Amino acid sequence: MKHQELSAKPALNLIQEEILDFWKEEQIFERSVEERTGEEVVFYDGPPFPTGKPHHGTVLVSFIKDMIARYQTMKGYRVPRVWGWDCHGLPIENQAETLLGISDKNEIEKSLGIDKFNDKCFEIVSSNNEAWKEYVEQMARWVDYDGAYKTMHADFMESVMWAFKQCYDKGYIYRDYRVTPYCMHCETSLSISDTRESDSTRLRQDRWIIARFQTEETIEGKPVYFLAWTTTPWTLPSNLCLAVGENLDYAYVDVGDSIYVACKNTLANFEKVFGKHPAIVRECKGSDLLGKSYTPLFDYFADKKANGAFRVVSAEYVGSEEGVGIVHTAPAFGEDDYWTCKNNHIPLVNPVDEKGHFTEEITDFYDPSQQKNVIEMNPAIIRFLYEQKKAVADGTIEHNYPHCWRCKRPLIYKAMDAWYFDIGKLKDRLVRCNEEIHWVPETVKHGRFGN
Ligand SMILES: [Zn+2]
Repeated sequence: MKHQELSAKPALNLIQEEILDFWKEEQIFERSVEERTGEEVVFYDGPPFPTGKPHHGTVLVSFIKDMIARYQTMKGYRVPRVWGWDCHGLPIENQAETLLGISDKNEIEKSLGIDKFNDKCFEIVSSNNEAWKEYVEQMARWVDYDGAYKTMHADFMESVMWAFKQCYDKGYIYRDYRVTPYCMHCETSLSISDTRESDSTRLRQDRWIIARFQTEETIEGKPVYFLAWTTTPWTLPSNLCLAVGENLDYAYVDVGDSIYVACKNTLANFEKVFGKHPAIVRECKGSDLLGKSYTPLFDYFADKKANGAFRVVSAEYVGSEEGVGIVHTAPAFGEDDYWTCKNNHIPLVNPVDEKGHFTEEITDFYDPSQQKNVIEMNPAIIRFLYEQKKAVADGTIEHNYPHCWRCKRPLIYKAMDAWYFDIGKLKDRLVRCNEEIHWVPETVKHGRFGN
């Protein structure tokens, strides 16, 4: 290409086209790789999702990636670089569902067929390539676009499975439970980021209840009860412990025929329970309550007492802003609950099936016709507890509650078993290797990546 004198008003668009044509005809990019036979610099491009057209964020990082590869080329290295597509995950699935008119994920398996759904995903991945190709060319990005790898190709997926097996054989992979947001309708876990979607958290009315848990203590012949407030009465059949704040002040209140224990700061919020002028007969710190045991509210998991269940434990998150300052804890149905129980070696009980119905273990509320999910069972549970004289107050609360972005129904939190990578086993080596890496900017070395 000959050097040309520029006019005062150069037609940049024409020059651009001319240069792009020149690159194409003379195969400049290909030759910039092939003609260098020395040391290779490997460049890995994090692939974009092939959904829709690229936005300016993708374009911007693309320029930077291109510059790095060109710079290494100019230094004499051979820098082959290949485009890629991230074909898996929700962006593609969402688009496929919209195009197929699916609103319920179960339709895919039940009526549509996984093969047809996959075909649609393939189609989306393929059809957007042309839109991107023009952008990539116009950006003057030097990359092997037509030879792009796709994460949906069998050889790519097999390489992931191979790597997973290596990790498994080395003992890095284990199976365990974690509590995740769960949609009973879609029968799937959602990620925490799913629950942060714009309209996922919405106002919702729920029933709250204060239940009483009988202790082994009596004061002047009157039975002593711990109180606990919850907005998920359906989790009470799975209660395995009660959590208190070690530094909070608790009061034993004489309510006539019984003594109730609750956080002192909360008494005024429940005048109907404690009276206008609570008759406090004893005061203590939360730490004084630790280890005290109580009778299970229901007997479904009474045998877990032998494993340390049905006693008072400490938890940092317990405050006096909400409820009565004693938190009912069911290990499978809340992240805090899960860790509180795990840290206290209290076993997991998980008596709710995939569709959100109580399992047969919950004999009083098991419904063989499976009409009602656990949230819909709340009124029945509250009624039952009053009949058993185990409820002392109830009401309705309007609060922000997470919903499924897919079907708009309320989510529950539920323990799901899954596979995890035990990163702790590799930590020391990772930290050591990090020292040898040249990070740009250098601050991330001991910042984001060091951490
Ligand atoms: Zn859903």
